[in-house]
Amino acid sequence: MIPLVNLHAMHQALDAEIREAVRRVMVRGDFVLGEELALFERAFADYCGARQCIGVGNGLDALTLALKACGLGPGDEVITAANTFVATALAIVQSGATPVLVDHDPHTYTLDPKRLSGAITSRTKAIVPVHLYGQPANMDAIQVIADEHDLTIIEDAAQAHGARYKGRRCGVLGKVAAFSFYPGKNLGAMGDGGAVVTNDDEVAEWLRMGRNYGSRTKYHHLIPGVNSRLDTLQAAILHTKLERLDAWNERRRRVADLYRTLLCDADVVLPGGAGYAEHVYHLFVVRCPQRDEVLAELHRRGVGAGIHYPVPLHRQPALQGRCLVPRPPTHTEAFADQLLSLPIDPFITDEQVKGVAGALIESLELVRSDNA
Ligand SMILES: *Cc1c(COP(=O)(O)O)cnc(C)c1O
Repeated sequence: MIPLVNLHAMHQALDAEIREAVRRVMVRGDFVLGEELALFERAFADYCGARQCIGVGNGLDALTLALKACGLGPGDEVITAANTFVATALAIVQSGATPVLVDHDPHTYTLDPKRLSGAITSRTKAIVPVHLYGQPANMDAIQVIADEHDLTIIEDAAQAHGARYKGRRCGVLGKVAAFSFYPGKNLGAMGDGGAVVTNDDEVAEWLRMGRNYGSRTKYHHLIPGVNSRLDTLQAAILHTKLERLDAWNERRRRVADLYRTLLCDADVVLPGGAGYAEHVYHLFVVRCPQRDEVLAELHRRGVGAGIHYPVPLHRQPALQGRCLVPRPPTHTEAFADQLLSLPIDPFITDEQVKGVAGALIESLELVRSDNA
């Protein structure tokens, strides 16, 4: 069995260091807003090339708090992509604003700048580009439109830890950026976690209060905040992993290269790379015909392939009547039945990658002959 993501191998490799990190926190006993949190926040800000990092409870809260810190709320429209994880749109809803869903570029799967203008109204206040699957969105083109209409850019960087856009890391490509440390992410905790990264000290100040009951000093509450802090334990574990992140991302790129070589003649559309981006392959997503049958065959062969995402956001019951769709996102709708994510993580072996590619080629042929 080859899983979509092999977390077991990662934690086996770091066993001693993680135990030591946990022990350090246990000895100090500062489980909430402790020293290791401050150390990790400094290290992750430096890693991104940002002034500030604020650890929060998860990626959804990171996005919600980032939106609120930028002053977004009821009556505001926020543009994002229709093909993303539900959290991107739910965060906008939770901030009180309205998500406006647009299509993605069919080649890169990130927000199509050409479709932004048609979605802008007098209520539009922000754009949330998602660096989907680990590839930075087309930020310069998005920035031009944002500048023209005075819109705030808030990055959803939950899938793009370490990815670079023209040399700069995701996290510093807008006013503020949200990260998730969900276990399966490129930088993942052993539980839930998230962070907001920004160069704006005022936004950072709001976030430090906003995540902690709106207080700067205990029992003095300046804004109606929430309880969403990154655990000190998780921060200590993440700090250990952060030191490996670049090497792990490099291994992901090698795995992607190997898939590309092995699948060059297969009946699949390989992921499109953008010239401006250094992809970190959170996911390796191909497109193929008869995807559901192919996926079933892969599962039968012990390959833990997945779908990101099977249902476009505007088709989710949770978002009915809560989002706007100025134009049908035709690529998102067509691709939802074709997308197929192959196993990828820093610990998958070349042999396993060959096994997955072989199983995929077999499955494609079998499904094709069954349907002939
Ligand atoms: C994982 C993810 C999130 C949410 O992160 P959680 O930590 O699970 O709340 C948001 N956006 C995208 C694109 C994601 O992949």
